[in-house]
Amino acid sequence: MELRREVLRGQVLLPDRGFSAAETVVEMRWDPLTGHGARLVRGPFPLFPPSGFDLAGLAEQTRPTCPFCPERIELVTPKLPARVWPDGRIRCGRAWLFPNLFGYAQYTSVSVYAPELHYLPLERITPELVADNLAAQAAFCAAVGRQDPAARWAAVNANHMLPSGSSVFHPHLQGFVQPVPSTFQRLLADVPAERFADYLSTERRLGARWLGTTGRVAWLASFAPLGPAELRAFVTGAAAPAALDGDRDLVDELGHGVATALGLYAELGFNSFNLTLYGAPPDTAGYPLNLRMLCRSSLEPLYRSDVTHLELLHWEAAVDLTPEEVAERARGRFGDRRS
Ligand SMILES: [Zn+2]
Repeated sequence: MELRREVLRGQVLLPDRGFSAAETVVEMRWDPLTGHGARLVRGPFPLFPPSGFDLAGLAEQTRPTCPFCPERIELVTPKLPARVWPDGRIRCGRAWLFPNLFGYAQYTSVSVYAPELHYLPLERITPELVADNLAAQAAFCAAVGRQDPAARWAAVNANHMLPSGSSVFHPHLQGFVQPVPSTFQRLLADVPAERFADYLSTERRLGARWLGTTGRVAWLASFAPLGPAELRAFVTGAAAPAALDGDRDLVDELGHGVATALGLYAELGFNSFNLTLYGAPPDTAGYPLNLRMLCRSSLEPLYRSDVTHLELLHWEAAVDLTPEEVAERARGRFGDRRS
C-alpha cells in the first residue's frame, strides 16, 4: 500500500529579518482508507499550546446546576422507552446511560462515567471508568437492535469539554443508532476488508506510527490525521458496537486503550477531545470496528479553534504535531512494539 504524501514549498518575506526570504513547507498527506487530506504545517508558534486553564474552578462553578450530578440525575434526565430498556436507564458499574434530550439521531444516548465524577480531567479517566461506560453504550446499541432491526448503524462518541462540542461540563459519552449511516460511517464501511488489513500490515511493517496490539485491538497514530494527535484503533472480529455487549474482555481491552490514550493527551497538555467508535451493520463481513480519537483546542478564555475553514469546509486538518511525533510519545503503552 502506498501512503501518499507530497511536500509543497513556498516563500515568505519576514518582517523581523528585513523582509528577507524564508522558505515555508507544508506536507500534504492522504488517508489510505478514505482519501481524506491532511496538512502537516510548521509555524513560528505552536497551533495548540498547553493550557493553564483552571478546569477545577470551572467544575465548581458548573456543579450546583449540573443535571448529571447525583442530586439531580434521577430527577432531570430522560428515560428510554420501556420497549428499549424496561428500567429506563442502563447502569453498568459506575456508568449511567439515558437518552439525549436533543434528537441528533433516531435513537440517542448519553452516558456519564459516574454521577459523582463531575470533575474528571483526562489523566483521571481510568480503564475501568471507560470500560463501564463503553459497556453501557454497547448494551444500549444491542437493545435498540433487538427491538428495531432496521436501525443497523451505531456509533459511540465523546465530546469532552466545551471546545469539543460538549454543552454539559460533567464528562460523558454519547451514542446514536439509525437506519442510515453518517457520512463517515458510509465512507469507512465502503472500504474493502483487504484494504484495512493492508493498511494495518503496512503500518506495522513501517513502524513509525504503529503503537501495538493489545490482543484484539490494534493501535496506531493516524497517517493523515483529522485533527491534533489523532490515534486510531481497529477491533477485529466486531463490526458493530453491539458486538461488545457481553464481551467484557474486549470491552476491558478497549477501555484500557482509550484510557491510555487519554493519559497521553493529558501529558501533551490537552484537556478536550473527541472520540468515535464507527459501527457498520452487525453482519458486515470483515469490517473492523474503527475507533478514532483526537485532541481539540484546550479550554481558554481566548483560544484558537482547531476547526478552521480547512477542517470544516475543506475536510483537511492542519496540524503541527506530526503523527510520527505522536507515535514516539505514545509508543510502549499499547502492547507490543512491532510484532
Ligand atoms: Zn455534574
